[in-house]
Amino acid sequence: MHLKGKRALVTGSTSGIGLAIARALAAEGASVMINGFGDADEIEAIRKELEDVSGAPALHDGADLTDVDAIDAMVARCTSELGSPHILVNNAGMQHVAPVADFPVEKWDAIIALNLSAVFHTSRMCIPMMRQKGFGRIINTASAHSLVASPNKSAYVAAKHGVAGFTKTVALETAEDGITVNCISPGYVWTPLVEKQIPDTMASRGLTREEVMNDVLLKAQPTKRFVTVEEVAALALFLTREEAGSITGANISMDGGWTAQ
Ligand code: NAD
Repeated sequence: MHLKGKRALVTGSTSGIGLAIARALAAEGASVMINGFGDADEIEAIRKELEDVSGAPALHDGADLTDVDAIDAMVARCTSELGSPHILVNNAGMQHVAPVADFPVEKWDAIIALNLSAVFHTSRMCIPMMRQKGFGRIINTASAHSLVASPNKSAYVAAKHGVAGFTKTVALETAEDGITVNCISPGYVWTPLVEKQIPDTMASRGLTREEVMNDVLLKAQPTKRFVTVEEVAALALFLTREEAGSITGANISMDGGWTAQ
């Protein structure tokens, strides 16, 4: 229970990777604020589960992270009701698949706001509180798409490359403050985000579901299997440890060998 007495804010944690990270942090005793959308009863069940596992308070905040005021209010609520966060996991993200000439402008704006700008806003709000404590862990869920591109994902790839650059910059700015800033770059992880882009990819490339799964998604992943959310969560958990104090400014791939090619 190395996180007893520590508080964590995990964005986009009602589902997928973020939920697995919230569970892993709670299992080590952290008090967790989760964030994201979904069914109110399911979210309440998750919140209770986190409290039971950690023995510490857990909260849910439904802030829409494309809205700067909502981010501000979420961080303020976390600080006043849970305590200022030692750990910030910027995980919320969305995807849209379309050729750049047809890319809906509102989707571009939403992806940049959520996948990139929200990481800036939560970080700028939390870093002063981490500096006061002389301890902080910022973990950004980037993507293999922070290192390489795929067609029809211009907004996502631009935002994730941005997250990788932002991570390095902030790591340098906080290097002497007991704060580490890293990103994890998974390949394809089997979550609702991946499942939801299958119909769009089928339409944009004229493929069947099986062809999208095997010939598009897993084509570039030499292990030929999806990364699991538990694998990503285990890495995030390691980055919160004292022993990970010299890992900062890193972009750690967990992509079944995708970007080794
Ligand atoms: P997911 O769709 O399962 O979960 C996304 C979470 O973000 C949910 O909790 C959702 O409610 C929340 N969310 C969505 N829009 C939001 C908004 N406007 N404000 C606040 N919360 C919002 O997705 P996932 O696959 O677990 O993805 C999590 C992160 O991992 C994303 O940043 C994604 O880009 C990244 N990622 C995913 C994969 C993958 O293959 N699944 C690969 C690499 C990186």
